[in-house]
Amino acid sequence: MNNIFETPKIKELIPKIKQFLKKHLYELETPENLNGLFSKIEPLLLEKRELVKKEGLFGLHLSEEEGGKGLSLCEFGQISEVLAYSPFGHFVFNTQAPDIGNTELLHKYASKELKHKYLKPLQEGKIRSCFSMTEPEFAGSNPVMMGTTAIKDGSDYIINGHKWFTSSADGAAFAVVMAVTNPEAAPHQRASQIIVPLDTPGYEFIRNIPIMGHAGDGWASHAEVKYNNVRVPQTNLVGEEGSGFKLAQERLGPGRIHHCMRFIGIAQRSFDLMCHYALKRKITDDKTLGHQQFIHGFIAESKAEIDSTRLLVLNTAKNIDEFGASACRDEISAIKFHTANMMLRVVDRAIQVHGGLGMTNDVVLSYWYAHERASRIYDGADEVHKSALAKNILKNFNPVSL
Ligand SMILES: Cc1cc2nc3c(=O)[nH]c(=O)nc-3n(C[C@H](O)[C@H](O)[C@H](O)COP(=O)(O)OP(=O)(O)OC[C@H]3O[C@@H](n4cnc5c(N)ncnc54)[C@H](O)[C@@H]3O)c2cc1C
Repeated sequence: MNNIFETPKIKELIPKIKQFLKKHLYELETPENLNGLFSKIEPLLLEKRELVKKEGLFGLHLSEEEGGKGLSLCEFGQISEVLAYSPFGHFVFNTQAPDIGNTELLHKYASKELKHKYLKPLQEGKIRSCFSMTEPEFAGSNPVMMGTTAIKDGSDYIINGHKWFTSSADGAAFAVVMAVTNPEAAPHQRASQIIVPLDTPGYEFIRNIPIMGHAGDGWASHAEVKYNNVRVPQTNLVGEEGSGFKLAQERLGPGRIHHCMRFIGIAQRSFDLMCHYALKRKITDDKTLGHQQFIHGFIAESKAEIDSTRLLVLNTAKNIDEFGASACRDEISAIKFHTANMMLRVVDRAIQVHGGLGMTNDVVLSYWYAHERASRIYDGADEVHKSALAKNILKNFNPVSL
């Protein structure tokens, strides 16, 4: 079928990545690997990374000067979908969140020194990072209410604060911390993003927060942490002082394309598993589940939802490439909640078709069901995106048909 977003680069890369997944990654989807400690499987995943490098597929998100392919957001989005067919795809290709977001942030806004010290090893997959914004005491949906402060002392900042859901902090080399530096400024100009190496005295790792019964560790974790009089040089500031929210918005635009295309990848793989099972699961001597109209409904609805959502997300990515993220705020809000909910519906239908098997750790579906529920909460809860979108539509109401 014709793909209107296909480019020569995509045509060349996608079959190679699919081949890699088939050859090296699907076989890793054992119950132990999916549900055990990440630290157990990490050495094997790092070996796979070496194979990715050999195939010339490492760092696909990077510019050509940095050793990548110089892909547009719309092109990388299509790759992000395919990598998400495996729960290990993004990690093995070093395009996993939150590192990819931090990579983009530092690439755009960090000083030359910070790039050398933090961005380069991150791009090479030698270190990991995290993004530390949300706080237990304040509603993350309105992050201008923030308790963490960074106060100047000589040539340093002294940071104090309590954060949680700092994903992947366990084992990370540094955090990008959102902290209030300018309390007297307008609400959206109060905070800054500052790099904190996680071996700095005063950084306190409290715990990995168990999620849906999964303890979490290493990259696959969400930590509660404290910054107790953490002293870092003011040169660790990313971008301008007071630009924290602006940078966060910029990070989230492309970041939401990455997430949404990852959600589409999960939906597509779930769909494929659903159809595969429907075709082979016999319910009588001469009939399979695939003969049943209820199952036809699941399959038809899922197909239409996945394909239409993919078009919507890639169209948004193309518009971001052309006009920038801030011009596409409404589209970005729309794709975030729409795609997350679509994915969860498809995963749920695929589980239903698998019956009892779908609930077990023997299939990847139950892993996604548990881990992807959060997609309706992080990077902006559904309700926040819906409200923002509707408010903007009404504020700038420009009827198409009236
Ligand atoms: C798995 C996971 C990973 C995460 N990773 C990170 C990370 O790496 N770094 C980081 O800083 N944060 C991270 N977060 C935090 C995430 O961004 C916040 O959970 C999110 O912004 C919501 O904030 P909150 O949890 O404080 O919920 P609240 O802001 O307290 O909101 C609670 C609920 O209230 C409703 N609500 C809120 N505002 C409105 C409104 N205006 N209108 C209607 N309803 C509303 C929504 O239903 C929302 O779910 C992660 C969260 C999860 C679950």
